[in-house]
Amino acid sequence: MEIERHEYDVVVIGAGGAGLRAAIEARQQGKRTAIVCKSLFGKAHTVMAEGGAAAAMGNVNPDDNWMVHFRDTMRGGKFLNNWRMAELHAKEAPDRVWELEAWGALFDRTKDGKISQRNFGGHEYPRLAHVGDRTGLELIRTLQQRVVALQQEDHDKHGDYEAYIKVFAECTVTRLLKDGERISGAFGYWRETGNLVVFDAPAVVLATGGIGKSYVVTSNSWEYTGDGHALALLAGANLINMEFIQFHPTGMVWPPSVRGILVTESVRGDGGVLRNSNGERFMFNYIPEVFKDKYATTEDEGDRWYTDQANNRRPPELLPRDEVARAINAEVKAGRGSPQGGVFLDVSSRLPAEEIKRRLPSMYHQFKELADVDITAEPMQVGPTCHYIMGGVEVDADTGAAAVPGLFAAGEVSGGMHGSNRLGGNSLSDLLVFGRRAGAGAAAYVDSLPARPKVTPQLVDEARAEALAPLERSGENPYEVHHELQRTMNELVGIIRKAEEVREALEVVEKLKERVRLVGAAGSRIYNPGWHLALDLRNMILVSECVARAALLREESRGGHTRDDFPGMNPDWRRKLLVCSTGDGSSITVAEQEQPPMRGDLITLFERDELSKYLTDEEMATFDGIAK
Ligand code: FAD
Repeated sequence: MEIERHEYDVVVIGAGGAGLRAAIEARQQGKRTAIVCKSLFGKAHTVMAEGGAAAAMGNVNPDDNWMVHFRDTMRGGKFLNNWRMAELHAKEAPDRVWELEAWGALFDRTKDGKISQRNFGGHEYPRLAHVGDRTGLELIRTLQQRVVALQQEDHDKHGDYEAYIKVFAECTVTRLLKDGERISGAFGYWRETGNLVVFDAPAVVLATGGIGKSYVVTSNSWEYTGDGHALALLAGANLINMEFIQFHPTGMVWPPSVRGILVTESVRGDGGVLRNSNGERFMFNYIPEVFKDKYATTEDEGDRWYTDQANNRRPPELLPRDEVARAINAEVKAGRGSPQGGVFLDVSSRLPAEEIKRRLPSMYHQFKELADVDITAEPMQVGPTCHYIMGGVEVDADTGAAAVPGLFAAGEVSGGMHGSNRLGGNSLSDLLVFGRRAGAGAAAYVDSLPARPKVTPQLVDEARAEALAPLERSGENPYEVHHELQRTMNELVGIIRKAEEVREALEVVEKLKERVRLVGAAGSRIYNPGWHLALDLRNMILVSECVARAALLREESRGGHTRDDFPGMNPDWRRKLLVCSTGDGSSITVAEQEQPPMRGDLITLFERDELSKYLTDEEMATFDGIAK
């Protein structure tokens, strides 16, 4: 059968916030741009984002500015962040939010008519621009509307709505194509018909989101099988920070069919508190040394903070997510959990029922419809859920360029920005800031090329054979292999890790690699979910191996990586990045790489005492030199 072909300047894989913002930018720079997405257009994780987009606009507290946001982000990531990305993000996020407003986004307002901003864990001031608890929906709606507006302009100019920007929905990319060292396109299949498709393009922007489906308990939906991470690896790019996975502290724990579904942090941001089975607000017992001076030590002070932030410290329910998730895990393990194996999250005794319904409408409906719980009258039961990967494609901070010429990445699939732990709300702003930069980077790269790289027929043949192979076998069941992988990652490379368990996980992964080679899918190419899963398994296994190998090597606990056998942070490890790559496309190599030291003007934004908790003595000596 003929393979369908399309030619573009830039192909953006993914239609979440990062992909759409990148595509808009590439089109605005005059590039013919394709947006390819695995699910329906408009269905991406970005749509599910509830809490808001973090941007230091200072609308609610005028003391906020990019420097405070930068500091909070670095603290949240335990100083392992790519500081240049954290700087660009903090400086540019307000412009990206205002730009959304100019494109038609309707944010909630303050009394004096500015964009309202809410509190979130780890953010010193109210900073999340939001639309109730449906911010992601508004963000995607606005970006899609912008795409349509550009298509209307193109129609007026060229007589064709899709002359410069076209969406290919329900189309999964399975391989990136190269001409020598350079990107020359992408190969995929239509989910509905199973027909194959090649995109010829000198630049590809990966914006494929996360990897949550490698774990059993996750807030992620079916698309999040680490495709972009694997596509990048297989094309020769590097992944960094893969050991850092964010387990969101509050996922639903009951009923089993909805286990893992997210309970937004806005519940705590708006006053909700965590209690154990003894009714104790246990987070006061879990304030780590590095945050001791920043969090309230009594319930009274924590409660006063909601109305008077100048004179009180935040309640510890608003510690960064890694801290809260570990605390919940410890309470459950100590036998102080709720009946269904979580803890209690109570907003019912903290806000009037009408206020809860107004501020948290989705949460109200989610619990009512899925668990028959009325959150205005009783507490929710919640526990940690695999939510977000800090690790991803190693990119240039300014342009989103990966190590492979012509390959760019933005959003959750890229690594570095969030260090070892992402602050809530920093993803939506990350998508906008770095989506735009990656789109611009890709456009500039295309302009710089003397000649267009060509798609090599041999690579297309190989990609075709790989994609169709599961349909020609009747061996292993893909669902069984997937379940074993998910269970292994959840139990052995989950929220708390130890060397012998991670080694055991790697042994299982090795066996699963063999089994994946035999996975077969009965039936035809026409909408065949077993076949789709068989193809996704390659990606989940590659990514899981990266997570496990890096987790075994990093002998310290930091952010989203907790080692039972190495419980503390080690300043020497903060200076090291673990870089994953694959030579043969099957096994993963991990190498240590030195982090570039922070620029002088940024490092002096911190107090000496705080830095001494994270930096080596040698680094402190440099700081003392600069600060003097
Ligand atoms: P996504 O929005 O995940 O989009 C990925 C796109 O890639 C999709 O279109 C998908 O179909 C496509 N894709 C994937 N693989 C392929 C392939 N092989 N071929 C073609 N297309 C492919 N962050 C915040 O900052 N604030 C919040 O309030 C917040 N709340 C959240 C709530 C939930 C329930 C979840 C799950 C996440 C939340 N996050 C939040 C995190 C944030 O939503 C995500 O990190 C972010 O939306 C990721 O955006 P993205 O553009 O990188 O990718």
